[in-house]
Amino acid sequence: MYNISYNLVGLVFLIVLTIYFFKIPIFPNRSNTVFRAILVLSCLSIGLDISTAVIVNNSENYSIAMQYVSNTVFFLVYWPLAFFFLHYTILLTKRENLINSKVNLVLNSLMVIEMIIIALSPLFHTIFYIDPVGGYTHGFLYVPIAILNVIIVFSAGLLVLINRRSFTIMQRTAIPMYILILCVANIVQVYYPFVYVTGAALALSTFIMFLTLQNPNIYYDSLTMVFSRESLEDYLSKLVHKKEKFQIIIVDVVNTTNINRTLGERAGSEIISQTAKKIKSSCPNNLIFRLEGDAFVIFTKSEERRDKLIEKFKKQFPFNYKIDTTQITVHVHLNYSETLSKFESTAEAIGVIQDCAKSSKENKISLINESSLDEIKRIRSVEKALQRAIDEKDFCVYIQPIYNTTTGLFEKAEALVRIKDDELGLIMPNEFIEIAEKNRMIKFLTPVVIEQVCKFIHSVSFPSTFKAISINLSVIDCLDENLDKFILSMIDKYEIDPSRLIFEITETVASLAPQVTITMKSLQKHGVKFALDDFGSGYANIDAVVKLPFNIIKIDRELVLLLHDVRYKVMLEGLVKIMLNLDYDIIVEGIETEEQAGVLDGMGAHVHQGYLYSRPVPMDVFTRVINDNATIKL
Ligand code: C2E
Ligand code: CA
Ligand code: CA
Repeated sequence: MYNISYNLVGLVFLIVLTIYFFKIPIFPNRSNTVFRAILVLSCLSIGLDISTAVIVNNSENYSIAMQYVSNTVFFLVYWPLAFFFLHYTILLTKRENLINSKVNLVLNSLMVIEMIIIALSPLFHTIFYIDPVGGYTHGFLYVPIAILNVIIVFSAGLLVLINRRSFTIMQRTAIPMYILILCVANIVQVYYPFVYVTGAALALSTFIMFLTLQNPNIYYDSLTMVFSRESLEDYLSKLVHKKEKFQIIIVDVVNTTNINRTLGERAGSEIISQTAKKIKSSCPNNLIFRLEGDAFVIFTKSEERRDKLIEKFKKQFPFNYKIDTTQITVHVHLNYSETLSKFESTAEAIGVIQDCAKSSKENKISLINESSLDEIKRIRSVEKALQRAIDEKDFCVYIQPIYNTTTGLFEKAEALVRIKDDELGLIMPNEFIEIAEKNRMIKFLTPVVIEQVCKFIHSVSFPSTFKAISINLSVIDCLDENLDKFILSMIDKYEIDPSRLIFEITETVASLAPQVTITMKSLQKHGVKFALDDFGSGYANIDAVVKLPFNIIKIDRELVLLLHDVRYKVMLEGLVKIMLNLDYDIIVEGIETEEQAGVLDGMGAHVHQGYLYSRPVPMDVFTRVINDNATIKL
């Protein structure tokens, strides 16, 4: 007597699971689609396994045609499952080169050939035939095709073994488990042909896969229940690969940082989830992702649809939100894009979207178009050039001479770094220093500049009238407790007179790294000097001048440009007097005209840096310039 009860239980269980999986909102990526197919095929297989068992075991009650149909359909559904399983495993590797390779084409072709061979069974007895006497009998291709299926299933296991790192521990366990359970069930089936367990085993192994691999929650952001950042990457990789066109809207909550700080993180989270709700209610049919923190990305299929959505958002935001008794107005910044399609990789697309979100300004609506994309791409390529320059210690240090109007001599100079890049040409520091500070690469840049300048001072014989070269330090450099040791080691290595070096720091250092005083004093003991850079740009901070032990104050070009206004002129004159009284040396930056030079000279500021005297020049040119200047003056 045959027993189908295990398979029946498995079937009921798997049907419930399948219904559940179809009901919950599932992220529309390829692996989820394939998993859906696996669920449906598995349900059908178990169902057909049960019905064929009934038919085969009661063959006298069923016509031969009926037996052929039920067996053919069973094989047509059950055997291709192996291919879906392998395909699914390939997708889990997340390796684009593997997913989109020719392997898929080969697999699909094999599957189609297998299905044709199965479908031909009733005519040519390929997989099985119904013997009028013996009933169901295996056909001549049964064993070869069964072996092919086993190979396909085991290939999935092999794939996991080879690409271990691409899988999570759960995935690494679940896939071999799937194979093992099916193997055991098939062996049991051979020994107990009348106990049908393969269907139950299929249900069990599929369930384990569901629990460990196909956890739909990973696609969701738990706070807002919109799609997560991982899903965004997944989705973008598909769009980028297919070069599909799309538009995005970025909704960025403006004041969460302040809200977190003043009302606590719970309030901040509440506002983010309320914002997500507002967005969802405006566009229930669009894909919405949480980019990071308080920014959301919405994809639209046409520019008209995008414009309509923006109109809706404008009506919805800002909105008032009440936390306890506090009324908060939630502002958002909207960034929307033209039709985009020209990304070379998923990483680039994600980077661009992230940069757009970061560039948000309060309550503004701005368009991401080709030119803003170009800007972002430029930043990325500058970043790459910077990384290369750091790796190869390949910076170009230019030097700008500083002129003393009373002696007519170049007495100091400032080292100004540039990057020479094969593709981008000469990149100026205004473009890359900010980037280097943001990603902390400046830590690797400054030592290279310091070493190059020390080496230069060592290798050149300067005229006796030339005093020192200054080097710029950023806040991050000044936070380093070992900065003085490094500088002293360079002075030692190149055997230079420490008084040949000046370090320039801006007032932000004074507020962000007040401990720099220790470094300054330790180096000043050896004769190294310090200059306060950019004095008068932005907020002139008297505090910075007084707090830190500067030797020199560099008056910024911005102040020089304001000299035509008599009030600024009077103020600067006063400042110069005070500084001279306090024994500071003064350097004035950005002198471009004789007129500016004359005015500053009149105030008693005689040391000038500017295009009027010389632009920053390469080291060899610099040596020539100061030697020529000294010779002429002699
Ligand atoms: P900075 O320290 O204020 O340097 C002076 C800048 O003004 C230089 O620009 C110089 O070329 C420019 N300049 C000099 N005279 C004139 C003039 O008469 N007119 C005008 N319009 N500009 C003049 P550069 O070389 O592009 O450097 C820009 C900034 O990049 C520097 O401003 C400095 O903050 C930063 N920087 C340059 N090299 C380094 C470095 O090695 N390390 C760090 N941390 N920052 C650096
Ligand atoms: Ca400077
Ligand atoms: Ca400056």
